[in-house]
Amino acid sequence: MLKTIAGFDRIGEENAFAVLARAGALAAKGKDVINLGIGQPDFPTPPNIVEAAVKALRDGQHGYTPATGIPELREAVTVDLHRRFAVEVSPDRVLIVPGGKVTMFAAILMFGEPGADILYPDPGFPIYRSMIEFTGARPIPVPIREENGFGFSAEETLSLITPSTRLLILNSPANPCGGVTPSAEVDKLVAGLANHPDVAILSDEIYDQMLYDGEEHVSLLSYPEIRDRVILLNGWSKTYAMTGWRLGYSVWPDGLYDKARKLAVNAWSCVNAPAQFAALEALTGPQDAVAEMVAEFDTRRKLVVDLLNDIPGVSCITPKGAFYAFPNITGTGYKAKALASELLEGPGVATIGGPDFGILGEGYIRLSYANSQDNIRTALSRMKEFLAS
Ligand code: PLP
Repeated sequence: MLKTIAGFDRIGEENAFAVLARAGALAAKGKDVINLGIGQPDFPTPPNIVEAAVKALRDGQHGYTPATGIPELREAVTVDLHRRFAVEVSPDRVLIVPGGKVTMFAAILMFGEPGADILYPDPGFPIYRSMIEFTGARPIPVPIREENGFGFSAEETLSLITPSTRLLILNSPANPCGGVTPSAEVDKLVAGLANHPDVAILSDEIYDQMLYDGEEHVSLLSYPEIRDRVILLNGWSKTYAMTGWRLGYSVWPDGLYDKARKLAVNAWSCVNAPAQFAALEALTGPQDAVAEMVAEFDTRRKLVVDLLNDIPGVSCITPKGAFYAFPNITGTGYKAKALASELLEGPGVATIGGPDFGILGEGYIRLSYANSQDNIRTALSRMKEFLAS
């Protein structure tokens, strides 16, 4: 057996892909499976965006682009950030990357090493912990609690920072709970971070446009006092229904940008050229499709929460962001992963067990409502029937 570096014995993965594969395998055998597992919009990429990519290919955009991304796109990202958050960002700090995940990969690689602590949300996107462990750094979970509406607590987060803390990962609106941290709590966190000037912050804002009930997104970039240490993770996957295009962007502090650029040159050279032209159209073209998609998610959100709360033993707070519900299933008597597995193998409803998102995910399952209202109704009635039997 060839010996690899120890990191590969620690690296994890994302169980959502395993569930997707299992759901696909069952469906291929003829089982009627409703997939509430995977976190991707069920809408097609808007046609104007697809056309922009086709046109780019026809126009001969077949070659490498600058490693940092085409200049028009980096500029468009800054215009979009200014339009939405009134922040001034130089295009020289914007890196176009192949997917939102790539920014977390780069940021965690930059700060993770044995002896370093990295704080990350739990329950949270599983790749944070996986990558932290890969680097040999110590993963320190920041609890995301139902009683806080699944937002982070500034006080609790700050209390976990020690002289070994190198990076703090934040995510709001959040996967898997759909939580949105209130702006007053973010203000409090930022104020407290003044006491920890050596801690870098990775702010994963990939769901920043998926907000409901009048919630407004607070970008960590809008706080001048921490601007020199915030890495912004964002992208096109969720907002523009472009998960398969592999497109994302990051904004890096001055001192880190060139390191990230060099990583790009070493690892992926550049993002594929036509996808970058599609991304440009997404940011500069009409935004109606985004509003329509969010409105439809909002309707489904209410539907899924109502139907979940109608199941004995299950209770679900109303999520304010993203497209996930994270019901508490402790009253069913099931362990979360067992319930998720039995729901898939039995009535054919794919969900993800909360522990796939961290230790504090026990007692919950994640349902993605990126599926039609009809399918949501059928899935939840199957779940209700299953739990009653
Ligand atoms: N960050 C969070 C919180 C996510 O939920 C996801 C995807 O599910 C990503 C990042 C990665 O996005 P992408 O598909 O663009 O790599």
